[in-house]
Amino acid sequence: MLPLPFFLGVSLLLLLPFALCAEDYYKILGLDKSASERDIKRAYRTLSKKYHPDKNPGNDSAHQKFVDIAEAYDVLSTSSTRKIYDKYGHEGLQQHKQGGGAPTHDPFDLFSRFFGGGGHYGHSGQRKGPDMEVRLPVALRDFYNGKEVQFQIEKQQICDTCEGSGSADGKVDTCSQCGGHGIVLKKHMLAPGIFQQVQMHCDKCGGKGKSIRSPCPVCHGKRVVRKEVPLTATVERGMSKGTKVVFENEADESPDWVAGDLVVVLLEDEPKMGEDDAERTDGVFFRRKGKDLFWKEVLSLREAWMGGWTRNLTHLDGHVVQLGRKRGEVVQPLSVETVKGEGMPIWHEGHLHEHDEGEESGNLYVEYTVVLPDQMEKGMEKDFFALFEKWRKKNGVDLQKDTGRPVPAKDEL
Ligand SMILES: [Zn+2]
Ligand SMILES: [Zn+2]
Repeated sequence: MLPLPFFLGVSLLLLLPFALCAEDYYKILGLDKSASERDIKRAYRTLSKKYHPDKNPGNDSAHQKFVDIAEAYDVLSTSSTRKIYDKYGHEGLQQHKQGGGAPTHDPFDLFSRFFGGGGHYGHSGQRKGPDMEVRLPVALRDFYNGKEVQFQIEKQQICDTCEGSGSADGKVDTCSQCGGHGIVLKKHMLAPGIFQQVQMHCDKCGGKGKSIRSPCPVCHGKRVVRKEVPLTATVERGMSKGTKVVFENEADESPDWVAGDLVVVLLEDEPKMGEDDAERTDGVFFRRKGKDLFWKEVLSLREAWMGGWTRNLTHLDGHVVQLGRKRGEVVQPLSVETVKGEGMPIWHEGHLHEHDEGEESGNLYVEYTVVLPDQMEKGMEKDFFALFEKWRKKNGVDLQKDTGRPVPAKDEL
């Protein structure tokens, strides 16, 4: 009879693999059963970078995820194991392995096969490719409300077909002329019996040290292709134009380096009406300056002078800001009204909770333009004139006094 702790240990060891990889491999990679080989590779490439332990120090769940992603990729990228998994699930695979099936790969080993290097980020000697910068125009509405903005960039990607080897059959030979060094030593005879050795680029392999007999038909042996890639940038409420959103390791790819960062610079797009009603608001034509918004409102002479009007401005998220004056309230041309708190939300870098220190927003400044009628109907003109005359006689309007200028000396008149 075995001692109990030993027995428990053994049974736990046997149960552990089932317990740990209970999650569906497709689900781990964010795919479903119809996924193509290419989809699987792409998912691995993205997720393994995201959850790499070097990028998530001290985060055990990210580490576990990295291991799971590698395991899922390992199984689904091999057609024989994928078939077994599709038919019999985790249990079928387990039996396959015990029967001497393919050994499980080290997740770091797998990572380095994809990206080169030692399977780690930031290791000495691990080269990083150049960063890339793109500009992304964003509508003011999206800066106000926040939005996941989808866009496409064209970048260099590792060729899916040959997995970055450049070879159609996966075979890469060491160059026979330079022995893989990429350089050759050539002897020049300077004088009889006197030689000079010169280091030269190997012309057979072009200095690469490797040769490919049958180049990949897709990338023609270049190992990389240029392709459009869809991306999503998160524009948070109140971000300003010029904000840089960094996508780590999303710049041009190459088998020779870890991709640099893609830096997306947010620009403010020209105002234009959106397609659906929610996007057709007055706010589209607000002007932004920092945390404040600006708007010009046009009033007729009667409104500016007599009052008794209202305007419903639809803001960038569709809520209504009501402007107005009671009867008898005058609005001077070019005067500016401050509507407190109706400007842009204030974005703090790294602050996800905007309610931290109370809701903070800039102001909306409304400038009034008063439009006088071009011409007046004859009868109306007569009435007005008579009315003005009546009040002028009664009150004695002094135009000179009304200008507010100092009274000129008599002899100047
Ligand atoms: Zn060579
Ligand atoms: Zn290729």
